[in-house]
Amino acid sequence: MIIKSIHIKKNWMICISLLILIIFLSSTLTFYFTQNQIPSVEVNSDSKEDYIKWVDFTIPCYVLKLTSKLDIDSHNNNESVTYNWIELLAYLACIYGGNFKSFHSSDLDKIIENLKSGKTMEELTSTLTFYDYYLEAYTAVLGGFIGNYTIETINENNEKVFENRYGLKAFLPIAKNYYFTHYKDFGNSRSYGFKRTHLGNDLMGSIGTPIIAVESGIVEQLGWNQYGGWRIGIRSFDGKRYYYYAHLRKDHPYVESLEKGDTVKAGDVIGYLGMTGYSIKENVNNINVAHLHFGMQLIFDESQVDSPNEIWIDVYEIIEFLRSNTSEVYLSNEETKDYSRKYDFLEDTLID
Ligand SMILES: [Zn+2]
Repeated sequence: MIIKSIHIKKNWMICISLLILIIFLSSTLTFYFTQNQIPSVEVNSDSKEDYIKWVDFTIPCYVLKLTSKLDIDSHNNNESVTYNWIELLAYLACIYGGNFKSFHSSDLDKIIENLKSGKTMEELTSTLTFYDYYLEAYTAVLGGFIGNYTIETINENNEKVFENRYGLKAFLPIAKNYYFTHYKDFGNSRSYGFKRTHLGNDLMGSIGTPIIAVESGIVEQLGWNQYGGWRIGIRSFDGKRYYYYAHLRKDHPYVESLEKGDTVKAGDVIGYLGMTGYSIKENVNNINVAHLHFGMQLIFDESQVDSPNEIWIDVYEIIEFLRSNTSEVYLSNEETKDYSRKYDFLEDTLID
């Protein structure tokens, strides 16, 4: 009897173990496929679930530079064929299956040649299954970076004048003439609180460095967060990008009077670099090295906000790309020790 019951117990144990293994394997596989399908778009267009679930952003800075230059120059020189850098990038992504390690400038030259010869992007991409996916994904990432804007500048008589331009209108999050270092740290593991991955890029600099709004938008989050410390979350006007600026300075994290719901302009000073965070208690410096944690979340559907399905992209190459457009600042308020941008900025989205 005893032997029999041990046998039954043993069989039961094997059954339960197998069941657990099957559940574990199937959930892992489901997770893997939903995260790694390239690209992972729902096929059923009638479904409410028809929005992009995942984006890997791996475009190197030099490809961003090449394509943006083609776009900007063709517009500024009033060329007969103008290029849209996001379309060019989406086309290239189709050639490489999203992996830009295979990038060859001759592929880009070929596309340009075809466009110059009179072919339209629509014709060239009609057979590329994933073109629409890449176009939508990259538009979500880069949609606010290039376009028309008006910026204050100094003319030959040393007067401040407004100038209309077409070009890069997104700014580096670190003010002009302030030093910072960074490395490829997206996806590194973090252990404070719970085991998780690093969903941004850390820009190491000195405490008090003015932090700049990369793109214009609405302040959606402002205040203390256990992980990010004093942080600011800004949503782009098209709703697709959520910029996250964290670990801001103790005692004076934000530029004076900045509040949730405010509109900020690309290039505005929004706060100051610090080392707050990793604490439930507010205004605590628990970060070892002073830095700005900069992150970008993509939102294709509002259900993705504050859910396990958030899409954060690697912004390392974007930071490198934005080095060419920095916002100059000055100490504008001796009393509050606040800084402001030196040259004002306007864009269409801010006017209407
Ligand atoms: Zn970080």
